[in-house]
Amino acid sequence: MEQLTLADLQRRVDDWIREIGKGYFPPLANMAILTEETGELARVIVRKYGPQVPKPGDLDKSLEEELADVLWVVACLANQTGVDLTEAFRKAMKKKTERDRTRFRNTES
Ligand SMILES: [Mg+2]
Repeated sequence: MEQLTLADLQRRVDDWIREIGKGYFPPLANMAILTEETGELARVIVRKYGPQVPKPGDLDKSLEEELADVLWVVACLANQTGVDLTEAFRKAMKKKTERDRTRFRNTES
């Protein structure tokens, strides 16, 4: 399977937006779209793993599809605001590792 880095993801989304999408929606619109997509993701998860019984059509979209939709909009927001997701992710991992190194040691699951 083709390897895809976060930089590849951002570049491919940018290429698509410029060649096919004809430009980015404004950040506020993309924020609303991200909210919509997280709602769609929540719908799949609550019906697949939670107590809700699916209505007809509820599971037409897969968890995989909805996660990818969220990832797409995150890449759009990063691209249009100049965020390098690779660097942002490295910083997030460092922050979480330092902050949470011992956080879960004494918790019972
Ligand atoms: Mg979706």
